Amino acid sequence: MANKLNNLEDLFKHELKDLYSAETQILDALPKMVEKASNPDLKKAFEHHLEETKNQKQRLEEVCKKLEMDPKGETCKAMQGIIKEAQDMLKEDADPEVMDAALIAEAQRVEHYEIAGYGTVCTFAERLGYTDIKNKLAETLDEEKNADQKLSTVSKNVNAKAEASH
Ligand code: ZN
Ligand code: FE
Ligand code: FE
Ligand code: FE
Repeated sequence: MANKLNNLEDLFKHELKDLYSAETQILDALPKMVEKASNPDLKKAFEHHLEETKNQKQRLEEVCKKLEMDPKGETCKAMQGIIKEAQDMLKEDADPEVMDAALIAEAQRVEHYEIAGYGTVCTFAERLGYTDIKNKLAETLDEEKNADQKLSTVSKNVNAKAEASH
């Protein structure tokens, strides 16, 4: 909603605001995921990504400052939905080992949404000739991909334990 999208530049800015809203929501939600995780590797992965997420939000603020735009003003409804689903999962009566597997399932949905979003803004930034901005956004894209990979790695142990749970 809000302003008319006349060109790719307008759409680029709209997508940056959407990501800013997503990161802000994730920053609120991640501490609960850290708390709920039992597997120490999973806890560590969430804690690490929480720190990265703080940087990612700041990076978006820097990018928006360069573009002389306010990062606020959009609500990412997709992330609201994904986080709502994750919060519902946290309330399930699950064995700790099974909860860990569930937390990974929810967190990877978050990461994949972010990978899609940052992939788009990187492509737009490149097209629009914003080289420095593109590089900054690509740093975040790499972090999101690594976070997803890390969760896949941790899931091997976690899923095995969930399978063996009584
Ligand atoms: Zn929108
Ligand atoms: Fe992020
Ligand atoms: Fe969104
Ligand atoms: Fe992420």
